Amino acid sequence: MTLSRRKLLVSAAVTAAAATAGVKLRQHRLDAEPPAPPLQDANRRMLWRNWSGIQSAYPALRAGPANEDEVLVALARGPAPVRAVGAGHSFTALVPTDGTLLSLDGLSGIVDHDDATYQATVWAGTRLGELGPALAALGQCMPNLPDINKQSLGGAIATATHGSGERSAALHAQVMEMRIATPARGLLTCSHSENPQIFDAARVGLGAFGVVTRYRLQNVPSLRLFKRTAVRPTAEVIEDWPSLRARHRNAEFFALPFTGMSATVTHDETDRPAEPPGKSQDADVLLDLKWLRDWAGFATPLRRRLAQSAMAGLKPEESVEEAWKLLSNERDIRFNEMEYHLPREAQMPALQELLTTIEKYRPDVFFPIEVRSIAPDDAWLSPFHDRPSGSLAVHAYYKDDYRFLFDLVEPILRKHGGRPHWGKLHSLTAKELAPMYPRWAEAMAVRRELDPQGRLLNPFLRRLFGDV
Ligand SMILES: Cc1cc2nc3c(=O)[nH]c(=O)nc-3n(C[C@H](O)[C@H](O)[C@H](O)COP(=O)(O)OP(=O)(O)OC[C@H]3O[C@@H](n4cnc5c(N)ncnc54)[C@H](O)[C@@H]3O)c2cc1C
Repeated sequence: MTLSRRKLLVSAAVTAAAATAGVKLRQHRLDAEPPAPPLQDANRRMLWRNWSGIQSAYPALRAGPANEDEVLVALARGPAPVRAVGAGHSFTALVPTDGTLLSLDGLSGIVDHDDATYQATVWAGTRLGELGPALAALGQCMPNLPDINKQSLGGAIATATHGSGERSAALHAQVMEMRIATPARGLLTCSHSENPQIFDAARVGLGAFGVVTRYRLQNVPSLRLFKRTAVRPTAEVIEDWPSLRARHRNAEFFALPFTGMSATVTHDETDRPAEPPGKSQDADVLLDLKWLRDWAGFATPLRRRLAQSAMAGLKPEESVEEAWKLLSNERDIRFNEMEYHLPREAQMPALQELLTTIEKYRPDVFFPIEVRSIAPDDAWLSPFHDRPSGSLAVHAYYKDDYRFLFDLVEPILRKHGGRPHWGKLHSLTAKELAPMYPRWAEAMAVRRELDPQGRLLNPFLRRLFGDV
């Protein structure tokens, strides 16, 4: 669904009216690439960078273990801090290390599966996008997926990565058993019945308890979904949200600041024949919103009128496809992001406050705010621990200043009782985090037992865990 720049130009009547009134349209800013760090440091160590470009490091050693023994060797002998890396799609400084960067890319693929229980054992380095077709060939699929599928399984699970659905928990809730290589206790198997405390503490473990080598996942039989995307006034969607998320298997919406409009996305199980979606137009829509920001960002009423005129008459889009093909999207336009998970009842009041605040103070924002819901689970460091959650995610174009996420957005999300997504930007430290997690102290005790010398902790993790 695209707003279409041509359509925006048709609404140039509004623009002309503004010009007649003496308002001079101007481009909001010149697009400038953020400065890039050098490819090598003074010691000729190669640069590592995350997806959005804001985190970087020059590791002394890059380890690419091909089996679990090699993971243990890297953990024991690699210079500290030893940091596991998946696809580098986290926005926070979880991965950067000047010690050992341990890539799980060599531990990838399905180890075994069970047709009767729909379980599969999968190496932690497997990318979600490769896992989808591999499971489909076995008649299985993951019950839910995040917005993209570029992440590694280990990286996604370690940060409590989630999709949306009132009855759908985050990915780590699928883990029945996992094998974790630890600095002090070697290779351990854990589950609800074997080493249960380690299982509960380290499932959402941020790579700070050990390096997970493989997971046994509870999947579901292959699913076909019907996806519908529709644009509606935001006020109407906010009103309808409790019913929308109850009615559909998966429901989310993207509130578009400065437009008064939102795009709802729902998925439901179907046995209709496949009707694959056309080429995704999400990137075009985003560029249209940026175009509006650049040319009409100085005048909110004009920007809103242009957007609404461009969106008038947009028809809903529908498609039918296998779940693993439909639940995730391509995100070609880079951004930085903050996402908090709030008590479900606080989600809509917080969204309204966010929209009002952004529209008052930050005309440069053009990315949609992503609104999702997630079922509770029992992992000790899961932001969904013991509470049904509603998440709100605010994005900043990668070329734009993202400090407003901390100055304006985070205080609102915190005030409404939010817990931060571990992989996305936030400013919290152990002092603020510990009271949010009822099993925090036990989790930290397990961490100390598995890594008493702190070999897995980089400065960012020391900030999160309080130098334990
Ligand atoms: C475009 C984009 C879209 C996104 N969409 C969503 C979304 O829809 N929902 C959502 O919840 N999040 C989303 N995220 C966030 C993302 O899912 C998480 O940050 C996730 O951790 C990234 O996975 P990764 O493989 O890149 O991990 P990395 O960023 O490489 O690592 C993340 C953490 O996992 C640890 N880790 C990696 N592998 C292992 C292992 N084998 N054992 C132990 N620890 C390990 C690392 O040490 C690090 O602490 C998105 C991010 C981007 C950039």
